Amino acid sequence: MDYDLLSDVLSESMSPEHVQIIVKLSEPKRDEELASELSVKETVIRTLLNDLHVKSLVEYERTKNKKTGWYTYLWRKRDAKLNEYIIDYLQNKLKDLQNTLDSEKNGSMFKCSCSKVSIENATETNFVCPECNEPYKESDNSTDVNEIEAEIVRINKIIETI
Ligand SMILES: [Zn+2]
Repeated sequence: MDYDLLSDVLSESMSPEHVQIIVKLSEPKRDEELASELSVKETVIRTLLNDLHVKSLVEYERTKNKKTGWYTYLWRKRDAKLNEYIIDYLQNKLKDLQNTLDSEKNGSMFKCSCSKVSIENATETNFVCPECNEPYKESDNSTDVNEIEAEIVRINKIIETI
């Protein structure tokens, strides 16, 4: 598994704390082990594990202690699901970039100091930004288009290597 990529995707979509949990789960562990290894409260660890569980990225095995009657949970990461998650995430990102690229290419964009809008949106507010009250100026978006295209190429390359 490419931990750098996983770490980028999970920190962006969840949080760096979730990344730490996954890294620590290189082998199956109990919540309290994770808590002491990361010096974080068990309740916090459980919340993080729960978030990951909702997304099917971790699974647990529950065993009952016969003496105390308490349950212990042994957690492990799910590599196949993590891989799927990364691919889905990157493909969604590609879709967004493609949409942005399409709107940048089709027709001009208008800019003020706080935002950038299409001609349709600019027309709706008479070419004045409702947020900052500045008039919109037509913007040259060739740099943006180049940047988006480069990012699309980069993400496609990453997906190919997964
Ligand atoms: Zn504005």
